[in-house]
Amino acid sequence: MAVSDHVDLPTFMEGVKKRNPYQPEFVQAVQEVAEDIFEFIEDKEEYHAQQILRRIAEPDRVVSFRVCWEDDNGNVRVQRGWRVQNNNAIGPYKGGIRFHPSVTESVLKFLAFEQTFKNALTGLPMGGGKGGSNFNPKGKSVREIMRFCQSFMTELYRHIGADIDVPAGDIGVGGREIGFMFGQYKRITNNFTGVLTGKGLEWGGSLIRTEATGYGAVYFLANMLATKGEDLVGKTAVISGSGNVATHAAEKIVQLGGKVLTLSDSGGFIHDPDGLDQEKINWVKSHKTHRRGRIEEYVEAFPNATFHAGKTPWGVPCYLALPCATQNELLGDDARTLIANGCKGVSEGANMPTDLDGVHVFKAAKILYAPGKASNAGGVAVSGLEMSQNSERRSWKEDELQQMLKDIMAGIHQSCLAYGDQGGGYIDYVKGANIAGFKKVADAMLAFGVV
Ligand code: NDP
Repeated sequence: MAVSDHVDLPTFMEGVKKRNPYQPEFVQAVQEVAEDIFEFIEDKEEYHAQQILRRIAEPDRVVSFRVCWEDDNGNVRVQRGWRVQNNNAIGPYKGGIRFHPSVTESVLKFLAFEQTFKNALTGLPMGGGKGGSNFNPKGKSVREIMRFCQSFMTELYRHIGADIDVPAGDIGVGGREIGFMFGQYKRITNNFTGVLTGKGLEWGGSLIRTEATGYGAVYFLANMLATKGEDLVGKTAVISGSGNVATHAAEKIVQLGGKVLTLSDSGGFIHDPDGLDQEKINWVKSHKTHRRGRIEEYVEAFPNATFHAGKTPWGVPCYLALPCATQNELLGDDARTLIANGCKGVSEGANMPTDLDGVHVFKAAKILYAPGKASNAGGVAVSGLEMSQNSERRSWKEDELQQMLKDIMAGIHQSCLAYGDQGGGYIDYVKGANIAGFKKVADAMLAFGVV
């Protein structure tokens, strides 16, 4: 039997597990994609013969490095940094940098793998990558964060470049950290280039990049609702997280007439039965970003709300749910509870927030369920537009960018319909996104031969 002959899904997954021991998040992400791709390539010999899925599930390279820095008390601290360059078949590697104590090689490999499909879905020429460190920014002074970012970039700069690999922000990395890293890159290389996205407006950043992921997730939700002749007006929404993605998703839901009932952080969730308006959302943004506070303090500012320590918000009855915090934050039982309480639409702002059991529950219930690689692609899409603006050395206007973001999210929705329409009014968005993203990358890889 030739190596290229078909293997079945369980055999393929056995191989993935064997080659990636102790990397559960990566194995989970590959499994979720492989479930759909195996069906799609069943009768497509070339994808089998060229081992395309196996190649996409093997990162082009994983760079791991030591990051030493000095804290404010003069202690030497040692962290690990990584850049995972998963696939550059359709453009330079592109994907965020995450600073969080839970970061491991497995987490970054899953994120870089997902990013490959997501970036393909945007229609822009971007490959997939991801990076980060187990550095915990919580409780660190701004000076400590600056020294860490500089030390991180002192190694990372060798592996990135405007036409090679263009990182952005993610959990724990916002505009301030991008500034520190860009400053260090520029200092080392003496090169002012669009090597990072999420930059400040004065030095090459794009309007609406900050808002794009959360807004995009809601535009995607609106596209899904429209297939049922519905919109967001009067719909209740439960959101997890209280960072960049969650607060901007909340903002757009409110702008489109919906009612946001919850937000959360790693300490628990707040339930505001009156709904969050723009003033309350602004309070959360400022409290979490500038004051680096805890979400539980919301109830002191808005006493009608309640705080639920150590809990996720999925038990609050709602029509719509947007997990916008982190991976595997919505488990099978949470999905069953949401369905039992009448939830009809889920748009993932975070990456892989729903575990495999939960994904299967949503699919079986045939609700409107958008996987992150489709619904949260608005952020990287505007990052792609930031790269174009940097190459052109100009800045586009806000209304132009807003329209482009809306069009890109509608385009991704359309791609999901093309491969996910199961008939009888049910769209399998997971399948649609996986196949549409895979096909684009796979066809480019076929053109390159065995590399
Ligand atoms: P932020 O750092 O701005 O916010 C993260 C939020 O999630 C915080 O509220 C944080 O709470 C919470 N959180 C983080 N880890 C955990 C955990 N283990 N358990 C419970 N809550 C947790 O990050 P972003 O909003 O940028 O990112 C959120 C998600 O969206 C991530 O999955 C990211 O990969 C994804 N994403 C982000 C994009 C972007 O443009 N920023 C683009 C596409 C996807 P606390 O404050 O307590 O830590």
